[in-house]
Formats: sequence, structure tokens, C-alpha cells
Amino acid sequence: MKKKLVSLVLVAACVFSMAACGSGQNSDGDTQDTTKSSEAEETDQEDAEDASEEGSGEGGTLIMATNAEFPPYEYHDGGEIVGIDAEIAQAIAEELGMTLEIEDMAFDSIITAVSSGKADMGLAGMTVDPDRQKNVNFSDTYATAAQVIIVKESSETAGPDDLVGKKIGVQLGTTGDIYAEDIEDAEIERYNKGMEAVQALQQDKIDAVVIDGEPAKVFVAENEGLKVLDEPLTEEEYAIAIAKDNDDLLEKVNSALAALKDSGKLDEIVAKYISADE
Ligand code: GLN
Repeated sequence: MKKKLVSLVLVAACVFSMAACGSGQNSDGDTQDTTKSSEAEETDQEDAEDASEEGSGEGGTLIMATNAEFPPYEYHDGGEIVGIDAEIAQAIAEELGMTLEIEDMAFDSIITAVSSGKADMGLAGMTVDPDRQKNVNFSDTYATAAQVIIVKESSETAGPDDLVGKKIGVQLGTTGDIYAEDIEDAEIERYNKGMEAVQALQQDKIDAVVIDGEPAKVFVAENEGLKVLDEPLTEEEYAIAIAKDNDDLLEKVNSALAALKDSGKLDEIVAKYISADE
């Protein structure tokens, strides 16, 4: 008798306090069934949405590690992380029936986040590189890219050969950083964000920036008095980093990528951020 009364009170509490009812369901799903009422039905749906945001959605959560300082591939727009990689990851999650969650971190933390299982995949305009392949697997490639050189409009530096002995800014841990090291007598200045390197160039603290082609265009458009040299330093390819022991996800991501390539969705995403005539 006493038990019944407690139940009744619980039902009443749920009806009058939808929020309390909702949080009860996540932690104690069994007892929730006994208190289900038509009034609570709506709340159940909200709960399901909440749950998927928290990662317990039906197909699970797909965690993407990135460094959102790399337009047009990933960058902050208001409170959101947007860009080509963010949209590709979202489309992959949809193909797999999963919920995407994006974790923003330093670029040189991404490989560790993926290999340790903290994140499921790394999308960060990340170049396939043999050193990285020692720690992670890469998906099929989804974009071609290049390391380019940014200099001041007034600079006499005309191409890669002129970088000898120069002070070069790069983003820490990127392929720009790796290749700049091979330039004879060059002095390398490493920055956490590509944009910081570009600003240092604008302030004459360095002579050139070596960075990926697409962000270079964005940064030069946003900062006066700079130009991108025509001759690139390297040609590269972007792919998605996945933990070595997660062949299952690698396979799934590759088939999702293939579907996005076939359907034209991948081209559509790229075209939204990069105009073809550039
Ligand atoms: N493509 C470069 C790399 O993989 C830079 C990526 C980035 O800065 N997000 O190292």
C-alpha cells in the first residue's frame, strides 16, 4: 500500500515536472516504464533527443577530432564549428546512422586523440604522411592540396628556391612545419594557429609563411598587403585518420566516403566553401 502511494507521487511528480521526469529516465530507464502516461509521451521523445546528443543515440556517437583554425575546412562561425571537414564528417555520421560530436583541439594533439581512442576519427585537412601512418590509419583520400608560400605583396621572394636562409612561419606540427625544415639555412617560427603566422608576416616578424593552399587564400583575403606565390612547395592529399585497431570503422568510413563521392554530395560540400573559378 505504501509502495503504491510512492508510485503515485512519482507519477504526479513526473506530470508536473517534465524536466525531472526526463533526467530520471536516462539514469533509471526501468522504473520509468511504470510511470509512463500520455502526458509523459512527449517528454520521452525529448529524452531520446537529449540522449543522442549525449552519445547514447541509437547508432552511437562518432567523435571527430579537429583543429578549427583552418578555413575553409574547419573554423568557428559564431558558436559553431563549420567547414568542409565538419560537413563531410556530418554526412559520414548520417550514412552510418550515428550522431556526430566535434572535439576542437591543438592540431598536434589530433593523432594522439585518435590513436588513444579519445576520438574516433581525425578530420583536419590532414595530409597523408608516412610518419603519421606509424600511429594511425588513413581513409581513402577526399581532397588534393598543396603547401604554398605567402609573402608580403612587396616581397621579392618569387618561389620555393628563394626561401633559402629566410625566416619562415608555419603552424606547429603541420606538413608546412615538416617541409620548411628541409629548406636550407631557414629559420622556422612555429605558431599554434596558421592565422598567427600570417599576422607575424604582416608585422614583418618573418619573411614568409608556408601553409596549405585553401586556408592561405582565406588568410590573404582577410589580411591586407599579402600574396600567395603561384608555385606550390608540395602536392598533398587529405584523408581521415582512424585508430590502427579500428578496421571496422575504417571500412565503414571508406564506404560512406565512396557513397558521398558517387552521389555528388562530396562535390556539393566542397563547392559550398570553395568556388571553382578561384
Ligand atoms: N595539411 C596540413 C597537415 O596535415 C595542415 C593541416 C592543418 O593545419 N589543419 O599537416
